[in-house]
Amino acid sequence: MKVDLHCHSNVSDGVLAPAAVAAYARRSGVDMWALTDHDEVSGIQAARQSAEELGMRFVSGVEISVTWAGETVHIVGLHIDENNPALVAGLAATRSGRQARARDIAALLEQAGIPGAYEGALNYVANPDLVSRTHFARYLVELGVCGSTSEVFRKFLTEGKPGYVPHRWATLAQAVGWIRGAGGIAVIAHPGRYKFSATAEGALFDEFSQLGGKAIEVVTGSHTPDQYATYAEMARRYGFLASRGTDFHAPGEARVEFAELPSLPAGLTPVWHDWK
Ligand code: AMP
Ligand code: MN
Ligand code: MN
Ligand code: MN
Repeated sequence: MKVDLHCHSNVSDGVLAPAAVAAYARRSGVDMWALTDHDEVSGIQAARQSAEELGMRFVSGVEISVTWAGETVHIVGLHIDENNPALVAGLAATRSGRQARARDIAALLEQAGIPGAYEGALNYVANPDLVSRTHFARYLVELGVCGSTSEVFRKFLTEGKPGYVPHRWATLAQAVGWIRGAGGIAVIAHPGRYKFSATAEGALFDEFSQLGGKAIEVVTGSHTPDQYATYAEMARRYGFLASRGTDFHAPGEARVEFAELPSLPAGLTPVWHDWK
C-alpha cells in the first residue's frame, strides 16, 4: 500500500487547493493519504471529500509549529477530529502571531533593500490567516533576488540572516495535548531537520514520549537516505511507530517526488499498522 501522511495545500504554504493535492496524490499512486497543513485544518473537509471520490483512504492531519529548547519543531497530528474545540482554538492561537510576524519580516527585508515584500508575499497567500516564510520565499524568487526558495531561506529567512524574525509557537505539551485530545496520534515531523545535539535530540524524544507522543517520521522528503537509517534506528530505540510522507508543497518544488520515496525500512511498526 502506498502511504503519504504529510502533504500541504494552499490552506498553508502549498500551492494547490486541497482537492488538487488529493488528485495529485492519487495520480502518484497513493492509496492512503493525509493532508497536514501548518497550524490549520480548514482544508480537511474538501480534502476528505476529494480523497473519497478518488478511492483513497483519507487521514485527517495537521502539522503544528512548536518552540522547544528555543528551536522550531514540527509535530504532525494524524487521525484527528478536526472539529475538536480545544484543537481548533489551539491552532487559532498558534496562527495568530503570523500577520504581525509577516509585517516584521517585510520591514527587515525593506531595510535589506527589498521593499514591498509584505504585499508581494500576500499575492501567494490563499488563506490570509496563514502567511508563511515560504510565501516570502516565492516572492523573492519572482523578483529574481534568488534562484530558488531554498536559496531565499539560506540567505534571508533563517537565524542570523537579514529577514529573520524569531517567533514563539506552541509548546510541545500543548501540541501533543491538542492532538491527543482530538483523538489523534502525535508524530515528530522530519526529526533529521533540527539542529540539535544528540543529547538535546534524546531529550526531545524522551519528553515527547512522556507527553504521549507515539511516532516519528522516518521516511520523509525532508530526510536524506542516510537519515532514513538513522531515524529507523531511533524509532526502534525509543519504541516509536514510524511514519512516511513526502512533505509535498508544490509540483516541481518537491525534494522527492512521491514515486521516488522508499518504503519504511524493515523492522519498524508503521504508524498506520492498526488503522481499520
Ligand atoms: P514558517 O512556518 O512560516 O516559519 O515556514 C516554515 C516553512 O518554510 C516550512 O514548512 C517549509 O515549507 C519552509 N522551509 C523551511 N526551511 C526551508 C528551506 N531551507 N528551504 C525551503 N523551504 C523551507
Ligand atoms: Mn511548509
Ligand atoms: Mn515541517
Ligand atoms: Mn510539512
